[in-house]
Amino acid sequence: MNSVLITNAVIADSGSERPDGWVLVEEGRIAAVGHGELDETAIDAFDAAGGTLLPGFVDVHCHGAVGVDVNTADADGLIAVGEFLAKNGVTAWLPTLVPDSDENYARVLGEIERVTAIQAEMPIAQIAGVHYEGVFANEKMCGALRPEFFKRFTGSEVAELPRLANGVHMTTLAPEVEGGVELVRELTAAGWVVSIGHTRADVATLDAAFEAGGRHLTHFFNAMTGIHHREVGVAGWALTREDVTFDIIADGIHVDPRMVGFACRTKSPDCVSLISDSVAPAGLGDGTFEIWGESISVKNGRTQNERGSIAGSVITMLDAVKMAASLGFSTGEIAMMASRNPARLIGMPGQFGRITAGTRGDLVVLDAEMNVAAAFVAGRRAK
Ligand SMILES: [Zn+2]
Repeated sequence: MNSVLITNAVIADSGSERPDGWVLVEEGRIAAVGHGELDETAIDAFDAAGGTLLPGFVDVHCHGAVGVDVNTADADGLIAVGEFLAKNGVTAWLPTLVPDSDENYARVLGEIERVTAIQAEMPIAQIAGVHYEGVFANEKMCGALRPEFFKRFTGSEVAELPRLANGVHMTTLAPEVEGGVELVRELTAAGWVVSIGHTRADVATLDAAFEAGGRHLTHFFNAMTGIHHREVGVAGWALTREDVTFDIIADGIHVDPRMVGFACRTKSPDCVSLISDSVAPAGLGDGTFEIWGESISVKNGRTQNERGSIAGSVITMLDAVKMAASLGFSTGEIAMMASRNPARLIGMPGQFGRITAGTRGDLVVLDAEMNVAAAFVAGRRAK
């Protein structure tokens, strides 16, 4: 039976951290959490040796890793990404697609379905759904996205986007595109998680999008207008509206570390999700790679496409977590930003992202250097 007892850990969860903790996982779910004295037993025991135990990280924006690009991946490739992510503490993720043909979208979703049918038996990061980045984005804010595959919303496109039988559907869009606010309303009504991004919308449009259900921003500061004291900008709108949340790429390249700290603190760690926005070369080191129909170079951890744009990151959530720690965020706050908040964003708060009885046994033990000592997916140790 899939049961493990983790002992001797500082438990960091949802804003707090407490030493001398233990967690019992039974049949894939957290059965009990405690501190101090313990009268539980399990077949497998793992001594965390005073390390920090966090909920497994949740990455809602990941285009791939270890040479696998989600847009061209097959099931085996997605599984390879899931293995790599789990070793880096990520226990749930949304494969993220850049704009592409409907035929290829349908093909990739078929491959995702093949993985979701069997993944529960494997200690790999579990695919929770799919993230379509920028089918309806602003061409002037396309970044590394290919505008030739952008869609115009005329009323039927939402129903036509390929969907999974089960799982989360998230999309990043610009509300200022033609019919954009209506699009946000339709997607939200259809159960999509709508995130605003690749945008230069004005405040009135953003407010209308908010009312329609778009209450989160994709990769804060990147591919959006910034902050100016007379031009609020998309970034300024998000920081000055308390009820808006955002995610941010904490790789130190997309956003200067000082501005990562400023943004996360101003917004509050309660409302920020860390993402990797990683691309296929993540985990492979520097080099030149063919992705998304162009050649992308990676030099000292920085990606660049032929048009001179940064083209995603080569980090994992673990690097983002380390960055947040270096900026002075506590492990309790990091547990919110890396696990709880993204789980909440995609509507899975009772499923994972917390260390509480009943949630999936997705856990990561970090040592004193914040490296992964062990990661567990539904109680199974990642290898
Ligand atoms: Zn992306």
